[in-house]
Amino acid sequence: MASITFDHVTKRYDNGFVAVEDLNLTVADREFLVLVGPSGCGKTTSLRLLAGLETLSQGNLYIDDRCVNTLPAKDRNIAMVFQSYALYPHMTVFENMAFGLSLQGVPKSTIAQQVRQAAQQLDIEPLLDRKPKELSGGQRQRVAVGRAIVRHPAVFLMDEPLSNLDAKLRVQARAELSKLHRQLGTTFVYVTHDQVEAMTMGTRIAVLNQGILQQVASPQVLYDR
Ligand code: ADP
Ligand code: ADP
Repeated sequence: MASITFDHVTKRYDNGFVAVEDLNLTVADREFLVLVGPSGCGKTTSLRLLAGLETLSQGNLYIDDRCVNTLPAKDRNIAMVFQSYALYPHMTVFENMAFGLSLQGVPKSTIAQQVRQAAQQLDIEPLLDRKPKELSGGQRQRVAVGRAIVRHPAVFLMDEPLSNLDAKLRVQARAELSKLHRQLGTTFVYVTHDQVEAMTMGTRIAVLNQGILQQVASPQVLYDR
């Protein structure tokens, strides 16, 4: 359970570039919010601020009414899936999925149980002993999602997670992620370039341009005209 509030959030990078400017946005608990906009408009920066991978320059960021401006990433109960998947090449699928939990000091038997459960949910159980290089693109994408859900995060951030898949796999993966969102009951913030993804998956769509929020609306309002 988690709601998110950006309250007048600005991110100015060290070189002076303002990537996000005075962002005001509330994401409701269990919402599937899609962030869209041209390359360089500040989508990834917004996700990284939420995840605690960047610090805010101005404003406040709340998760469930708790101000998290200075809360370390590891204490935010947020998982992020990257476009590149960022799997550890020398680790098996099992080890990739287990890694975050073992850093948290979760007992091994609990880790094994949670990894297996997540692997079942994503239909990747037969792959647990493989290394990433022994997987197809679609399988890697599932492992990246598995590594995130295994920790039962309250917020799930995804940065163009399907952009490396071919068109056919993408259609399938869209449906699976929508289903996963319903099953997990987790708040999703999802970055994409793909209008079809935004329309079919999002409960609401936020449009950024040059670091400024232009509009937040349901897919119906935004695209059906
Ligand atoms: P998007 O995800 O929408 O493509 P980003 O959030 O990645 O946009 O980037 C927004 C802007 O901030 C871009 O112009 C990018 O070049 C710039 N930017 C990103 N990271 C840094 C950084 N570490 N230092 C300076 N500028 C950055
Ligand atoms: P150790 O590091 O003590 O040798 P392991 O890493 O082999 O322990 O196993 C720790 C737990 O994770 C065990 O319960 C094991 O069954 C489980 N486990 C390890 N690898 C896999 C895998 N590929 N698939 C399913 N469970 C695994």
